[in-house]
Amino acid sequence: MNKLIDKLRTAGSLSKSEFEELINCDKNTAEELRQTAEKLRIENYGHDIYIRGLIEFTNFCKQDCLYCGIRKSNLNCQRYRLSEDDIMECCREGYRLGFRTFVLQGGEDAFFNDDRLCSIIEKIKGEYPDCALTLSVGEKPYQSYKRFYDCGADRYLLRHETANAEHFAKLHPKSQTLESRKECLLALKEIGYQVGCGFMVGSPYQTVGTLAEDLLFIKELNPQMVGIGPFIHHNDTPFRDFPDGTLELTLKLLSIIRVMLPKVLLPATTALATIDPIGREKGILAGANVVMPNLSPVSVRKKYQLYENKVCTGEESAQCKGCLEARIRSVGCRIAVNRGDSMNI
Ligand code: SAH
Repeated sequence: MNKLIDKLRTAGSLSKSEFEELINCDKNTAEELRQTAEKLRIENYGHDIYIRGLIEFTNFCKQDCLYCGIRKSNLNCQRYRLSEDDIMECCREGYRLGFRTFVLQGGEDAFFNDDRLCSIIEKIKGEYPDCALTLSVGEKPYQSYKRFYDCGADRYLLRHETANAEHFAKLHPKSQTLESRKECLLALKEIGYQVGCGFMVGSPYQTVGTLAEDLLFIKELNPQMVGIGPFIHHNDTPFRDFPDGTLELTLKLLSIIRVMLPKVLLPATTALATIDPIGREKGILAGANVVMPNLSPVSVRKKYQLYENKVCTGEESAQCKGCLEARIRSVGCRIAVNRGDSMNI
């Protein structure tokens, strides 16, 4: 076995320069890495793939992340908000289809203040006490995170985006800092959430060095989930001319994360499915064990465009579920009908 893969598997981490070497490895080593990751996924989670029903409930956002299609400066973005009834209807359909985790994701929208969000959280948890509820609504004060948790939210996704402060500053306006992002992640952990961090692969100004720093940061945070997917340019952002992240590098990083944190929950993301027709399947074969199909009403799906050409925006939730089921079967796995909590505790 390759020495670096073996060390990562047995020691659980590598030095920064060793991570860089592994990220730069040749095709043969990459295949060995993939096989190691797939084996670890099966050892820890069997052939179960967890599904999360993603409800993109608002695309209003006060932030101006340079990569993101729903940034506030994008005047071409048609803004929408789902009502509480719309959201409950998504959950009803999702529950019927076998979803036992709902993810409320959106821009940082002041309309959904703490009172409104708490009311939605309580309603969902009241009607579906056997389901997990995940929030993904960006940076908030500690007290807000605490209120959402006390109302019943179980998990929180907040990608760190990059663990290198200079790189973070190139991806965001001055008002956002890596320091405050890290504080949010630590607060979420302390409160008791199952936490997900993550980053885009191939984001502008990313280097092998910053990727190695991402891996070291993830190891240190030891989250329950890690969301990674390729950067995909959006024509209405300042990053319109930057190249998209590659399939090859995304798969390699998925495998490295699976080997480093064998029990972590690792989604094969929609962005990965967008850059390759069988991106999700390849993600699962590289060690991923979660997929997050869309439960949002078809009428708003095309408006939640973080990047160009996002897939699965035209089909009803039931069609998506059927399509996913077949794709997951094609790689020897099955959809699990349960909450799918992380074993990385
Ligand atoms: N506003 C919330 C959730 C929505 S953004 C938040 O900021 O957490 C969810 C993730 O989509 C971001 O963390 C980012 O990593 C990813 N994303 C945004 N723009 C993207 C793009 N152009 N290509 C690929 N991923 C993107």
